[in-house]
Amino acid sequence: MKYDVAVIGAGIVGLSVAYNLLKENQNLSIVVIEKENDIASHQTGHNSGVIHSGIYYKPGSVKAINCKKGYDLLLEFCKREKIPHEICGKIIVATSKNEEKKLKAIYDRGVQNGLNNLILLDKEGLEKIEPNVSGTKGIYVPQAGIVDYKKVSRRLYQIGLEMGASYTFNNKVITLEKQTDGYNIKTENKIIKAKFLVNCAGLYSDKIAKMDGVGLDYKIIPFRGEYYLLKEDKTHLVKNLIYPVPDPSFPFLGVHFTRRINGKVDAGPNAVLAFKREGYTKRDINIKELLESLSYSGFIKIALKYWKVGMYEMYRSYSKKAFVTSLQKLIPKIKEEDLVIGESGVRAQLCGKDGSLVDDFLIEYTENGVHVINAPSPAATSSLNIGQEIVTRILSKQNKDQATN
Ligand SMILES: Cc1cc2nc3c(=O)[nH]c(=O)nc-3n(C[C@H](O)[C@H](O)[C@H](O)COP(=O)(O)OP(=O)(O)OC[C@H]3O[C@@H](n4cnc5c(N)ncnc54)[C@H](O)[C@@H]3O)c2cc1C
Repeated sequence: MKYDVAVIGAGIVGLSVAYNLLKENQNLSIVVIEKENDIASHQTGHNSGVIHSGIYYKPGSVKAINCKKGYDLLLEFCKREKIPHEICGKIIVATSKNEEKKLKAIYDRGVQNGLNNLILLDKEGLEKIEPNVSGTKGIYVPQAGIVDYKKVSRRLYQIGLEMGASYTFNNKVITLEKQTDGYNIKTENKIIKAKFLVNCAGLYSDKIAKMDGVGLDYKIIPFRGEYYLLKEDKTHLVKNLIYPVPDPSFPFLGVHFTRRINGKVDAGPNAVLAFKREGYTKRDINIKELLESLSYSGFIKIALKYWKVGMYEMYRSYSKKAFVTSLQKLIPKIKEEDLVIGESGVRAQLCGKDGSLVDDFLIEYTENGVHVINAPSPAATSSLNIGQEIVTRILSKQNKDQATN
């Protein structure tokens, strides 16, 4: 059998593509190919669970556009499918004059990105919203929220099944063979034929793209984000979401406090080089993948430029005291004994050969394929719109092909 579309990866982006395809046309034959034994096993199942408002992103960027549209689609989906979520709002906290300047720039971006009712806060304003926070100025972002992205993914998967999609698990894609009318996708177990291919392989999307001759100037470098968990009797210290002012040189938001939809409160994540693409602990090492990262010209440039930050992140990863010192900038009352080790996630950070940390989403289209090469945060928030955009392109290509045949 030859499928109309094969999607590689059952993370939230791949699941959204399959869902959106069948929503548009239930006659399509779709297969989602996943190497693990379940959906959402990697980035999607290890994230902070924040519904991002879109305040940070460069106006007009693919991220800014997708986050805003994806936000609306996600809320609509959660309401319709009765998935627990909460628009609890968040604060971004400045703790120095230098951060106050950056805060104003973030506020202006938010306004440009169409966010209403943002509020600039002074010290008292901050304390009214989060009584335990210490900052000099801040922004209240009412649109930010929380959800469990595993639950969103599970529902996308179930609806996909109901609409007739096939899902094949424990099936790692090893090579792609381009044909005149599509692809032969070779997995560990079989060959799957498809007219169209969508690569949503997360931490391995660069590798799959390269099999198709795409994204040759980039490599994914895995950065682990480690979390601490606030002990149950200390969760009252955090009402909702508390973020620092991010350093604009990096695509990460800095360690923050996140109340989860299940009531637990996370502190983190940091960002340390992972020694394995899907390495969730310090002990996880894959020598081949590590050497690939360390010898990549783009990574060497990044390491030379930001070695001090990198060393500090490594130190903070081993020193709870240093981690807590960062958190105390936001909540001075937090003590080491209030926190226990939590989970971790690994971000797929796309790096350019030129030493750039690619910030924006990057989706490359070929004749019969789409490669989602860079879908970092807020791609979970944006996923329903990313899926919709990809599907619009696939269907318009199909219509053109039919018109010419
Ligand atoms: C620590 C952390 C915190 C984050 N916080 C947030 C947040 O609060 N809000 C937000 O919006 N976003 C957040 N993000 C980002 C968000 O989680 C990701 O952008 C999103 O989950 C990406 O989804 P994906 O489907 O592209 O990738 P993934 O979820 O990684 O899925 C890719 C899938 O492809 C499969 N795969 C890979 N290679 C192959 C192969 N060869 N064959 C078959 N299958 C393969 C993998 O097994 C995996 O299941 C966070 C990310 C991290 C890591």
